[in-house]
Amino acid sequence: MPMYKFKCWDCGEEEEVFCSVSDREMQTPKCSCGKLMKQNFNVPNLFHQTDRERYSKALAVDISQLESGEAQRAMPGVEFKVIGDLACPVIRNRADKRRIMKMRGFVEYE
Ligand SMILES: [Zn+2]
Repeated sequence: MPMYKFKCWDCGEEEEVFCSVSDREMQTPKCSCGKLMKQNFNVPNLFHQTDRERYSKALAVDISQLESGEAQRAMPGVEFKVIGDLACPVIRNRADKRRIMKMRGFVEYE
């Protein structure tokens, strides 16, 4: 099972949680200060080569969410590439990456 990192953006506390890809949004831990933590990760820099499509597994949703139309409603205008049981958003450039991360409620930090 993959490990997901979460961070509290109020007090900075971090926590690591093991859960399945499809459960990761249900597993959001609560910080000791009472706030909900946010998933906290860096998407690797994919754009050394320009104009090359990339598919982000980190930002992927479960294939069932694509089949039900849920993914398209949550991420309007995003194209998906199915890899195994994941529907991976197609990312063409940095602006795409930021837009998709924002739609998923993820925050990138340095
Ligand atoms: Zn906190």
